Amino acid sequence: MLLARHGATPAKGVNRQALSAEEFAARRELIEWARPLGLTAYTDAAGNFFLRMEGRERDAAPVVSGSHLDSQPTGGKFDGVYGVLAALEAVEAMRASRHIPKRPIEIVAWMNEEGSRFAPGMMGSAAFAGAAPLSEMLPVRDAKGVSVEQGLADMKRAFPSVPERELGRPVAAYVETHIEQGPVLEQQGYSVGVVTGIQGKRTFRVTVAGEEAHAGTSQRRDRKDALLAATAIIQALAKALHDEEDVVKFTVGRLEVKPNAPSVVAGQAVFSIDLRHPAEAMLRALGDGVPAICKGHAGACSVKVEELVTAMPLEFPHTMRDEIRAAAQRLGLRTMDLPSAAGHDARYLHGICPSGMIFVPCKDGISHNEAESATADDLYDGTRVLAETLAALAER
Ligand SMILES: [Zn+2]
Repeated sequence: MLLARHGATPAKGVNRQALSAEEFAARRELIEWARPLGLTAYTDAAGNFFLRMEGRERDAAPVVSGSHLDSQPTGGKFDGVYGVLAALEAVEAMRASRHIPKRPIEIVAWMNEEGSRFAPGMMGSAAFAGAAPLSEMLPVRDAKGVSVEQGLADMKRAFPSVPERELGRPVAAYVETHIEQGPVLEQQGYSVGVVTGIQGKRTFRVTVAGEEAHAGTSQRRDRKDALLAATAIIQALAKALHDEEDVVKFTVGRLEVKPNAPSVVAGQAVFSIDLRHPAEAMLRALGDGVPAICKGHAGACSVKVEELVTAMPLEFPHTMRDEIRAAAQRLGLRTMDLPSAAGHDARYLHGICPSGMIFVPCKDGISHNEAESATADDLYDGTRVLAETLAALAER
């Protein structure tokens, strides 16, 4: 609630953009909270923010935990922030119990997870993990023309005494705690979820080309009606991508018709496809089938299918999922396994170290919304499981 003051909106939500004054204020507050715990603040060339607790073995690779502090323009109080604060609270609990783990533990807030100020999202974690070069992110500009490079310079000016470490250091393990952003845990009555992996996504743009014609005089056999063809294709896709279990997510959220006039046969129809599935083989098979379905139902029209985004699903290692589940069991908490339907920084950390995620429910599954809410009890359970997990991992 205190961090939600930084970027607070009138509707009780949060607008805290990456590398903004509001985000810097939130970082400053974290530094204040970390001071009595004896943590050291660091940053890196990608603007990621770390708070480090030394372990018994100073040179051992740290166990890292956190998420992000930036939000959507009409975001909530919990998305991202919860993961950072849960990690801070876990470290606070270790301090309170005078427990010094073998490995150092680092709390992290990754730069620009949301991608709302600078696109795409998850820049900080991608740069840290070497999944994308920082040099490609630096020139990216926000709506006002300010670049990531300028935002990073703002950050350095705001925190002159926070040292910069080299980008992409060895990590022993990464655990991210996050609100589910979906309704499953709440509906099933669990306070803690063990995330099995992150669902994959493929997006396409389909352009159906027909021929404009007079609605009264043109003959049916001569028509190339792009809108009729597009709707036939969409219905065929919906049928082919339908599963009884409701695991396949197929969405056509945009349809543009040209010339979009009541008495003209449509000459062109362009629509979007957003296809998601948690299993890689399935996502590949379903997505690979899209062009053939489009061509097969285009009738007299021609059709072009372009794939825009390909993000394959990933599965977190069983060792990490077992670790989180065992931690919950030691605390007497029931857990449920579930995949993440949304993307997270853990996607990139998964590429460089054993990674896992802990979910807690959020009210009605609502997120990326000012009404986003979660109960103190659920947040507490998730934080306890995180603390127990981090303590165990930091002894390995
Ligand atoms: Zn998030």
